[in-house]
Amino acid sequence: MEFKPLSGREFPRYSALKTFFRLPVATLDDDFDVAIVGVPFDGGVSYRPGARFAPTKVREISSLGRGFNWARGEDIFKKLRIADAGDCSTVPIDLNQTYQKIEKHFSQVLAAGKRFLAVGGDHSITLPLLRAVRKHAGQPVTLVHFDAHLDTYPAAWGQEYHHGAFARHAVEEGLINPKKSVQIGLRGPLAGGEDLDFVKKHGLRSITVDDVRTSAGLETFLRTLPPCEGPTYITYDIDCLDPAYAPGTGTPVVGGLTTYEVQRIFRALKIEQLVGADVVELSPPYDHSDITALAVLDAMFEMLCLF
Ligand code: MN
Ligand code: MN
Repeated sequence: MEFKPLSGREFPRYSALKTFFRLPVATLDDDFDVAIVGVPFDGGVSYRPGARFAPTKVREISSLGRGFNWARGEDIFKKLRIADAGDCSTVPIDLNQTYQKIEKHFSQVLAAGKRFLAVGGDHSITLPLLRAVRKHAGQPVTLVHFDAHLDTYPAAWGQEYHHGAFARHAVEEGLINPKKSVQIGLRGPLAGGEDLDFVKKHGLRSITVDDVRTSAGLETFLRTLPPCEGPTYITYDIDCLDPAYAPGTGTPVVGGLTTYEVQRIFRALKIEQLVGADVVELSPPYDHSDITALAVLDAMFEMLCLF
């Protein structure tokens, strides 16, 4: 099998079956490097639903996906064999069963020698993804976490697991090494100052929008990004972007990053060993003119380049 996107010259971009980046659909038995896998689940949201529709929307908007990274001077589809590996099975009304399915499915992906890019889904899916990655890596991983929110919040409505708590569980379960990990795009308002206690206590580095947009300029900020050592995982919550760039999301927060700033941050990251990544919280029913879906596609492209 040839892992090349369908040509837009042969099949115009509005035509043909929709797959991630117009890539072939493959099974885990096929010989390729990176699996793009949909995780259509939004049973962990606290506000706007709709992220369950994101994998289908991203496949549709993938019509505009291209492979050559101008900034890096290379074509991702010439360097890596990437495939659409379908969706992970989920149970829309049961978070516990869905967690089990996600952990099992992605353990199989990793055991097959593939790295993966998961397309959520709300941010609750990242916890079982990290459980699979931690088991496979045999050690806590370095986490690069893009988000407006800390996602270290306590139980809500008596439920421990929801889309705003994955980072806390990831630290408490020893899935990530908080001292090597960073959160990027954070901003308030918070419910209270004690929201920051958890990240301070565990030494998670918080990078706010103010930190990115300093008077010294973006270039100066980019040089402060720490190198990511050891097995590393990226989770990209689309609400790290300002709602002007990403209106189609579950819990928008104004005063966010721009798509350009995110591109530059991705290109400045130095990652030794990227084992997996995800993009979460795209809610197509709240999107306009596919603005948010396009931002997701671009982040996926930059993350594929990091593999
Ligand atoms: Mn989040
Ligand atoms: Mn968020």
